[in-house]
Amino acid sequence: MTAGLYAARARLNTRLMEKISPGGQVLTTDWVDNYPGFPEGVSGFELVDRMRKQAERFGLEIVRGEVTRLSREDDWILVHMTESTLRTRAVIVATGTIPVKLGIPGEIEYTGKGVSYCATCDGPFYRGVEVAVVGGGDTAVEEALYLTRFASKVHLFHRRDQLRATGILREAVTTHPKIQIHWSTVLTEIHADDRKLVRGVTHLDLKTGQTGQLPVEGVFLFVGQTPTTSFLQGFLELAPGGYVDTDLEMATVQPGVWAAGDVRSKVLRQIVTAAGDGATAAFNAEKYIETRFGYSHAPKTTGAPAGVAS
Ligand SMILES: Cc1cc2nc3c(=O)[nH]c(=O)nc-3n(C[C@H](O)[C@H](O)[C@H](O)COP(=O)(O)OP(=O)(O)OC[C@H]3O[C@@H](n4cnc5c(N)ncnc54)[C@H](O)[C@@H]3O)c2cc1C
Repeated sequence: MTAGLYAARARLNTRLMEKISPGGQVLTTDWVDNYPGFPEGVSGFELVDRMRKQAERFGLEIVRGEVTRLSREDDWILVHMTESTLRTRAVIVATGTIPVKLGIPGEIEYTGKGVSYCATCDGPFYRGVEVAVVGGGDTAVEEALYLTRFASKVHLFHRRDQLRATGILREAVTTHPKIQIHWSTVLTEIHADDRKLVRGVTHLDLKTGQTGQLPVEGVFLFVGQTPTTSFLQGFLELAPGGYVDTDLEMATVQPGVWAAGDVRSKVLRQIVTAAGDGATAAFNAEKYIETRFGYSHAPKTTGAPAGVAS
């Protein structure tokens, strides 16, 4: 969204291609406490809404559709979508990440029927019942705390004997009366009833080897993220783990292609760093288009489009 804002404001003819809903993972975040300029915090939905309105004010065009492949035709880049192809001078890849799957029986079968990767989206369905959360990082802990608003009890399963989450979150989760932490314990199976609705989990204590069962109705999985880059295979060489390598200008090794946000190889994957990347990428894309093709500040109808695959 920030790449789109900067590119559109630089008067490039800019389209943002989005396969689900503009705003990405911020939309799955209930409350954002660490984005500058919001001293009381802001809901993920409101932050996205504000960013979208701001970008659209400068002419960003948001197009619904999935980018399936990129290819080159001389100095043009072809952005292949399911039903159309866009010919553009510059592309900013900002396709983020998706949650890693745990890979246990029941996970795929019961996704949407008790298994979830988004507490903000699904938490309110679990009023007054027990739920399980898996993970030990910031996201898992934040989401476990959020779920205490609805669930009668939250079981947090972590495969290690200490949490990776930041100090303030660790304090909150370890002292919360509704949260029970199951240290050094993993889930091995998710069970459902005849209607395929989740009714329990089997867990394994890695230290003692003991197994047990718990009657939970929701299972929330936060065990990491993986980059959304399969559509780049064969076009751009990816770093180990599938992330996109860039230089400090957000440029990839393909001329005319930049990357921004969580999809990049980088240390801190947050909204504020994604926004910084997006601004840098758009600024450099504008300079590239200006110096290479002389399209600077072209009127919207005649300028070569710059694409943001978000
Ligand atoms: C539960 C949760 C809580 C979080 N809480 C915070 C927080 O409190 N503070 C904070 O700073 N960060 C938080 N984060 C991290 C933050 O959400 C990310 O750092 C940020 O969203 C990264 O933005 P992005 O634009 O790089 O990627 P994303 O937000 O992942 O957006 C990528 C977008 O690209 C789209 N897309 C992917 N592939 C294609 C394709 N082929 N064609 C078209 N569109 C495509 C996706 O649909 C998506 O909308 C949280 C993340 C999660 C999961």
